[in-house]
Amino acid sequence: TSLSVDQVSRTVQSMDQDKEYVGFATLPNQVHRKTVKKGFTFTLMVAGETGLGKSTLINSLFLTDLYKDRKVPNAEERIGQTVDIVKHTIGIEEKGIKLWLSIVDTPGFGDAVNNTASWKHVEDYIDQQFEQYFRDESGLNRKNIKDNRVHCLLYFISPFGHGLRPIDVECMKALHEKVNIIPLLAKADSLTHAEAYSKKSKIREEIKQFGINIYQFPECESDEDEDSKRQEQILKDSIPFAVIGSNIQVESKGRKFRGRSYPWGVVEVENPIHSDFLLLRNMLVRTHMQDLKDVTRETHYENYRAQCIQSMTRMMVQERKRRWVEPGPPPTPGRRRPLPLRKMQEVLERIQEQMQQSQRGSC
Ligand code: GDP
Repeated sequence: TSLSVDQVSRTVQSMDQDKEYVGFATLPNQVHRKTVKKGFTFTLMVAGETGLGKSTLINSLFLTDLYKDRKVPNAEERIGQTVDIVKHTIGIEEKGIKLWLSIVDTPGFGDAVNNTASWKHVEDYIDQQFEQYFRDESGLNRKNIKDNRVHCLLYFISPFGHGLRPIDVECMKALHEKVNIIPLLAKADSLTHAEAYSKKSKIREEIKQFGINIYQFPECESDEDEDSKRQEQILKDSIPFAVIGSNIQVESKGRKFRGRSYPWGVVEVENPIHSDFLLLRNMLVRTHMQDLKDVTRETHYENYRAQCIQSMTRMMVQERKRRWVEPGPPPTPGRRRPLPLRKMQEVLERIQEQMQQSQRGSC
């Protein structure tokens, strides 16, 4: 049974009672207290065509200007542009809780004349962070590992096309096994309610049809209250979140709010009737940040690690075979023959042991 716009709006607003906060102060409820002291880290990546409002939305989401020094490339620069990945990190504090938020921007994505592999750079970036983590985890200083893994990718879809473009499909398919993808329908103020509704259904259908695995909201337990179940249903039905961003405050009817002013009226970024902005922010920061981190660790990183160990094992087997067939010259007297097989075995065992420990203790 679908809910009316009014019901959705009331539920979303009730989830967002503390207006002056972004909402990550609820994080301690989401995880164990021991991480509270260190502060939380979260890395969010944004991707999609230039001009879809990525930086505006990020600024709106975290109430901060992350892009103060941003240089917008001119047309000529954009044509030949390779994907240039930029990371901004800020520390924000709310009610004594610190969040180290990193935003990884992929400017120019979808811009260059040859776009065929522009997502390749994004994929490489995600892999590099996994690789770094894998190395650090197998090293000596495991207590102080910096987690730069990408926990979530906000993928911006143009509101002006008919559903997904081929590059959207290609890109999401290239990344869906590596990162939690949350699709967004950009600049939702350019669509009527009916248009947004039918675009969303079309995009959801295409996501299914092309076998794209976007981030799945965890299923509610059967004993959870009706409110949680309703919220989960609203989240699922809202994909791709139709968002609106604005860097300015608008004043209307004696109220000041983040919005966009048009000759015929104003749109309010945080009004659930106008867009899914609040729904996205609540989900991202208040309710699902820890789950996004867990899925990154337990699924995406775990896949990466398993592949690494598999290829190391394959190398070991090959090496063993090679030695069996060609034993090589006998060791020179006085020199010890190296023991790569045993060494590799030791490394593997150490990694496995460390992973088990870190899975027990980390969050
Ligand atoms: P980016 O290149 O994807 O980071 O896009 P920007 O955030 O720089 O935005 C590009 C242009 O779109 C700017 O003129 C913004 O003011 C405008 N813009 C941003 N968000 C929205 C939105 O939600 N709706 C509309 N209509 N325009 C937007």
